[in-house]
Amino acid sequence: MKKIIIIGGGVAGLGAAYKVRRAAAAGHDVDCVLVERNDRLGGKLATDIVTDPDGGEYIVDGGSDAFVSTKPAVARIARMLGMGDAMVPAREENKKTLIVRGGSLVELPDGIMMFAPTKLVPLATTRLYSWPAKFRMALDLVLPRTVRWAEGETAQDHDETLEHFVVRRMGRESLDRLAEPLVGGVHASDPREMSLAATFPNFLEMEQEFGSLIRGFLAERKKREAMRKKHPPKPGAKPWAFFNTFYRGMQQLTDGMAEAVGRERIIVGASVTAIARDGDAWRVTLDDGRTLAGDAVIVATEAWAAEPLARQVDGAIADLLAAIPCSSSATVPMAFRSADFPADTKWFGILSPIVENRPLLAVTLSSSKWPDRAPDGRVLLRGFIGGPRNQHLLEASDEEIIETIRAQIVDLLGMGPDVQPVFASVYRWAGGMPQYTLGHLDRVDEIERLSAGVRAFALAGGAYRGVGIPNCIESGERAVTKVLGDLGVTYEEDTAPRRPGQ
Ligand SMILES: Cc1cc2nc3c(=O)[nH]c(=O)nc-3n(C[C@H](O)[C@H](O)[C@H](O)COP(=O)(O)OP(=O)(O)OC[C@H]3O[C@@H](n4cnc5c(N)ncnc54)[C@H](O)[C@@H]3O)c2cc1C
Repeated sequence: MKKIIIIGGGVAGLGAAYKVRRAAAAGHDVDCVLVERNDRLGGKLATDIVTDPDGGEYIVDGGSDAFVSTKPAVARIARMLGMGDAMVPAREENKKTLIVRGGSLVELPDGIMMFAPTKLVPLATTRLYSWPAKFRMALDLVLPRTVRWAEGETAQDHDETLEHFVVRRMGRESLDRLAEPLVGGVHASDPREMSLAATFPNFLEMEQEFGSLIRGFLAERKKREAMRKKHPPKPGAKPWAFFNTFYRGMQQLTDGMAEAVGRERIIVGASVTAIARDGDAWRVTLDDGRTLAGDAVIVATEAWAAEPLARQVDGAIADLLAAIPCSSSATVPMAFRSADFPADTKWFGILSPIVENRPLLAVTLSSSKWPDRAPDGRVLLRGFIGGPRNQHLLEASDEEIIETIRAQIVDLLGMGPDVQPVFASVYRWAGGMPQYTLGHLDRVDEIERLSAGVRAFALAGGAYRGVGIPNCIESGERAVTKVLGDLGVTYEEDTAPRRPGQ
């Protein structure tokens, strides 16, 4: 029996453990044990069910609240777990984004794809940009590429920061008013440092293929519209949405994975303090004094938590892990009485650009974006605070952070200044978001090259090739393939996406 020790019970670690169990079910003589520092499994997937004083419940996601449907890993795992029906699409009928401009809210104009306009009239009439900015954005249609990639080159060979790219193609205001809060916001990243090759290589690829971002997104829009015409939704089928969640919140996914792994294989509330080779095997030490013996180790923690463990294996890997910075943030779920809230709740969220200089990054109106998030007569939202330029705000107490967000919400939505939430809480994510800075992919290539040389050892998680939940699951699965291969076990799975009914 080959035993894999997995460190970290986030979605990557659980993704790894679940794959080991599938390999065992397929007849391989393998097993695993997973160690998680916190009492709760799931890492950045953390759902609480909160009861309203007047009855009814809120489904509160303190970390991730969604997964994208364009990457198949979550749906694949959910179906394997028998949880296909638990996936819930966002309520597209409420899909509207509001952006703070000069202290008031402006609706994101129709036809904007990421930050590129693809429809003329909404661009011409929006208050989001000044007229000079609109003309500057249109220049993207005629500005030449600065370089032509040679045959075989990729975005990684021509990495660029988000700021450099957007300002070069569409001007400063396009960055400040939308690309920064929207694109930088996904990674809670500073556009001055964020690597495009590691986050949105498609922008760089579009410039190469179409010579213009607007033309690239126009082509993508046409492709999507043609697909929608060719494959109209089947009557009675769940509507398609880009963002999806689970009926009982995102933690339903990691809870389902943990059940499938078997709770008897999972240790919670214990931190791994050391990993060491023991002949051909590994010895893992926990902070409660226990040691575990295994044939392979997968470290599926944040990069900063992996670094001291990796240092005991290979100093060069640890140095590279130390070069992956991270930013901290907090989410602040908050519920209001509908009577105290503006009547128009047909929107998904608010983005607050850094140039607005507010202590708020974004707001999601959870009870409009998802069904059944709040009891009747209540709205549930969550504020987002922190990010690369506002780390100091997180030094405040929970009470102060709640008051900061409350004051921002009532101001932006024009509610009475004294309106109080029915409940509010704070989820802090210290060092929770890895920052993919310029050259990130080169560093990850090197980490993987060095790890390949360490027998039965692998790293996994959101710090490497994508922070999104599907990426993290795949990263855990790749780590299993690597260590099983080192142990002489070949276990392949068909991970091709299935069309409904297949
Ligand atoms: C606020 C927030 C909102 C997000 N929203 C979304 C979203 O809507 N959609 C999306 O796709 N992505 C989102 N992300 C990103 C995504 O949630 C993460 O990238 C992903 O969950 C990371 O999973 P992971 O398993 O790699 O790491 P983690 O979830 O960080 O898990 C690592 C685990 O390792 C444990 N650990 C660390 N050190 C040790 C040790 N020494 N011993 C034992 N255990 C240890 C930690 O306690 C932790 O539980 C969000 C991230 C944040 C912070």
